[in-house]
Amino acid sequence: MTQEYEITIGLETHIQLNTVTKAFCGCKADSWNDAPNTNICPICSGQPGSLPAVNKAMVEKGLMLCLAMNSNVNLTSYFDRKNYMYADLPSGYQVTQDNRPIGVGGYLDFTMDDGREVRVHIHNLHMEEDAGKTKNEGDIRLIDMNRCGVPLIEMVTMPDLHSADEAATYLMRLRQLLRWIGVSEANMERAHLRCDANVSIAPKGSKTLGKKCEIKNINSIEAVRTAISFEIQRQIREVEAGRKIEQWTIEWDNDAQVLRKMRSKETAADYRYFREPNLMPVVISPEFYEDVKRRMPEMPWARRARFMSDFGLPAYDASILTADRETSEFFEAACRTYAGDHKRVSNWMMNEVLRVVNEKGVPLSELAIRPEDLAEIIKLVDAKTVNTSTGKSLVDKVLETGKKPAEIVKELGLGLVSDEGAIKEVCRKIVDANPKEVASYRGGKETLIGWFVGQVMKEMRGKADPEMAKAILTELLKG
Ligand code: ZN
Ligand code: MN
Repeated sequence: MTQEYEITIGLETHIQLNTVTKAFCGCKADSWNDAPNTNICPICSGQPGSLPAVNKAMVEKGLMLCLAMNSNVNLTSYFDRKNYMYADLPSGYQVTQDNRPIGVGGYLDFTMDDGREVRVHIHNLHMEEDAGKTKNEGDIRLIDMNRCGVPLIEMVTMPDLHSADEAATYLMRLRQLLRWIGVSEANMERAHLRCDANVSIAPKGSKTLGKKCEIKNINSIEAVRTAISFEIQRQIREVEAGRKIEQWTIEWDNDAQVLRKMRSKETAADYRYFREPNLMPVVISPEFYEDVKRRMPEMPWARRARFMSDFGLPAYDASILTADRETSEFFEAACRTYAGDHKRVSNWMMNEVLRVVNEKGVPLSELAIRPEDLAEIIKLVDAKTVNTSTGKSLVDKVLETGKKPAEIVKELGLGLVSDEGAIKEVCRKIVDANPKEVASYRGGKETLIGWFVGQVMKEMRGKADPEMAKAILTELLKG
């Protein structure tokens, strides 16, 4: 019998907050498009004698994230210096929060693809500044300090994750939440969301956790899945070969898709944390706290539940329509102007509107279609003013022209012909022109009715009311 293992994973995520300016100076926070070292000042480049000041927007966004994660907020928190020497850290220390961070505890719930509910507890959330970027070109080391002082929230989970899949799903859920509450663009390619994973294994049923290894700087959801799977396999191979797991820091090389040992783990004491003397304590007043709390949007999981209860949506639809805030708001606004079955609005959203969003790869807000346009199109189909396929083409026409659906129907003459006399005339023509099909229909092949309706629709360029055409043809074919 093969040994089974209990896998234990904890994640540390670094989240770049989307503030206008950096954490402690007036430099622009986002310098993605800037040339190296053009977006720095004496404060963020660590010049002696410069004095930092806390960016209120960082505290506000940090507080929002604490509230979303159900964390306990420390109304007074402190900044500390984490001392280490590294070429891309010009001051020789990182300003972070050590023993009194902004948020303590909390949790995030998410659902796995198989429907299993997982709750991940949070150890703490702390505010800190980012370091610069190092690039090696041959034997030359290049330093870009643009990212020095960019505001981050580091969020540390408890070891509550038990597979690479759970870790990846947690991260997707977190990314959704960050965008939803608007504190980060959470674009992993731009390093807005970076992740370190602590991984350990132990024989199933064992009371003690195995030694953990830390994988550094994983920068995509797919990499989280692969890097953690590889590390679990490596540890199992070690144990089964009779070797001990040593506490390593490991680097994920995404280009080569391999793990590399960086160093044996340093201890916390090496950083010589002490209170940052140049910054005042961060004090959140009860008024500020209440104000931020009041402005928090409805959370995605609450909205998902509400879409199921208020609009009668299946769980699948509700999940898709609350994947991002914009889609959920579009859907809800369309429902408000549509009195019929809201599952219909959901189908049109998923099949037509989100199809276009995916095809064009642009956010919903940049498309020319408004929620009331979608509701109007569905109403036109319901009233049989147009058929379903014309309705679908109306979505594209609204996008092209920005005009109202009813206006387009009128201009292009897209309305269904429900004039019985006109349809009857065409039906007669089709029946007369196809004696072979008529004979075989009359001989018992009644499924041919669909073919006859198709011929009438073709003749009338899709504008006949298909149900009326079917009724007339059935009558005529009786003979
Ligand atoms: Zn600066
Ligand atoms: Mn950190």
